[in-house]
Amino acid sequence: MNQRTFGEHDDVDFVVVGSGAAGGVLAKELSTAGFNVVVLEQGPWQQSAQFSHDELAVERQFSMLNVASEVQTFREKESDPSKTGVARGLMYRRAIGGSSVHFAANYWRLRPSDFKECSRLGPIPGTSFADWPITYDELEPYYTKVDYEIGVSGRPGPMDPPRSRPYALGPMPNKSSGVILDRAASALGLHSQVAPMAILSSNYQGRSACQACGHCTWYGCEFGAKSSSLVTVIPAAMATGRCEVRADSTVVRVETNATGRTTGVVYVDKNGLERRQTAKAVVLAANGAETSRLLLMSATPKFPHGLANSSGVVGRNIMFNGSSSTTGMFEHPLNEFKGAVTSRIVLDFYETDSSRGFYGGGGIDSRFPYGPIGFAVNGLPDDIPQWGSEYKRALREYYAHSTRFVSHLTSLPLPTNTVTLDDDHKDRFGRPGLRLTYQDHPDDMKAKQWFRDRMEEMMHAAGAKRVWNQPVLPVDGGVHLLGTARMGNNPRDSVVDRYHRAHDVPNLFICDGSSFVTSGRGQPTMTIQALAFRAADHIARFAKTRDI
Ligand SMILES: Cc1cc2nc3c(=O)[nH]c(=O)nc-3n(C[C@H](O)[C@H](O)[C@H](O)COP(=O)(O)OP(=O)(O)OC[C@H]3O[C@@H](n4cnc5c(N)ncnc54)[C@H](O)[C@@H]3O)c2cc1C
Ligand code: SF4
Repeated sequence: MNQRTFGEHDDVDFVVVGSGAAGGVLAKELSTAGFNVVVLEQGPWQQSAQFSHDELAVERQFSMLNVASEVQTFREKESDPSKTGVARGLMYRRAIGGSSVHFAANYWRLRPSDFKECSRLGPIPGTSFADWPITYDELEPYYTKVDYEIGVSGRPGPMDPPRSRPYALGPMPNKSSGVILDRAASALGLHSQVAPMAILSSNYQGRSACQACGHCTWYGCEFGAKSSSLVTVIPAAMATGRCEVRADSTVVRVETNATGRTTGVVYVDKNGLERRQTAKAVVLAANGAETSRLLLMSATPKFPHGLANSSGVVGRNIMFNGSSSTTGMFEHPLNEFKGAVTSRIVLDFYETDSSRGFYGGGGIDSRFPYGPIGFAVNGLPDDIPQWGSEYKRALREYYAHSTRFVSHLTSLPLPTNTVTLDDDHKDRFGRPGLRLTYQDHPDDMKAKQWFRDRMEEMMHAAGAKRVWNQPVLPVDGGVHLLGTARMGNNPRDSVVDRYHRAHDVPNLFICDGSSFVTSGRGQPTMTIQALAFRAADHIARFAKTRDI
């Protein structure tokens, strides 16, 4: 698609850094509201026709992440040495559309209780557990906007929060794993309900319905049925004639002047040349890892601890959403390798229940997270030989007959769990590496174990011939990057206000996974996009009333 282009000193209203789930929405909304917008994205343009079903490349080598130039380190606590290559790390895609291109597209809303949990349950010592500065009711119209603007499929279930409109599209077809979850729920008096998905169950707004190709999580959708920013809000932004989306442009610094206002950003283009884009205001949407790195790298004598960091909170409280799982093998073939990742969820254990003895709750879905290579390497129970005729026989039997129950859980915000700059490990631009320091709160470990025990009971109740558990492991990274530039009313313990404006810099806005105050129960991206639609409304209002 042809697009408007801008020069370094053209009259640009907003620079948006990042073109992922949040950045795409912000670009579309601000350009639709009449503003000139430049989106800077460090990764390349890759169109749907370029995606492939190469399991080895995509699922084993994570080719969709475009990770080649990235330097990351890990340590459990500040006193440990940081090491490369030891942890799962901060996983996200560097390309137009960000991680919305290759994600699994589960689109749960938070519940009203998520926003005010601290008031209800009380503080948790050693954590930054807090209420959000907004309510579910304030966000609900924007959840609905996400449903219709990007295309979300589903059917309201008994455990859902209130909604003002039905889903934009009807539910995705139920899978055999969904039938298994239905059976487990009905045997145990639980409620199985349709999984909301950012995937088209029928043709919508010129895009094709899901073709059930089965190469969904970690893959891009060559049919355009997955409602990523790449095929929804980014083309809509460009179509306004007021938005330029500039790929291969890695922002290395947010610039500020003597009065403490931002004047634009410095970025490195695909030829390695340093360039500048001036703008009246900057919007960071680079995700829960990279937004913090940029703020910390933009320190000046006026902002010695990093931009927008007078609170010292930038980079702290990173949350990933915990998870645990159990697998079952059934008498009849399930052929779970087809279709989108999941079709049913159980939300009966969503809320914290003090009788369990820990903070935390979550949802459970049923899914089969393997292609044939992954299953051959990691999928079988431990007591089956890893070679020879019994191995081959077991692969044939188990691959088509198995499914997994997976929990998606809370993760507490801890000020000691951080993303910081690692000056000992630099990337090809000379940027300090991303250093993750992380240890689970004991309640997060207990939640994982408790849910695994419930899922094991459910798998038996569903009639599995054989059930085997995956170990409950500590977190050392993940794909949900949340909480590192949290929203709040108090500038002493938060980075942005309830409208996503940085407390310290009047023309800097931050809106992406970093804005979260608590983790919800997994599947954060519906909320990330609802926040982005809401933030864009307010930012446009401020700009129109010259309040930036
Ligand atoms: C395999 C996988 C499955 C997932 N499944 C689900 C799911 O089922 N449900 C769910 O809710 N979530 C899921 N997620 C998470 C979801 O993808 C993220 O929550 C979401 O994309 C985050 O949105 P964001 O806008 O905060 O960041 P991103 O989508 O990561 O976008 C940030 C963008 O900013 C760019 N950027 C970063 N730094 C710079 C810089 N310095 N200069 C220029 N550009 C920069 C990045 O390249 C990226 O394109 C999944 C993620 C993965 C990896
Ligand atoms: S399963 Fe459906 S949405 Fe997912 S990649 Fe295949 S066609 Fe696209």
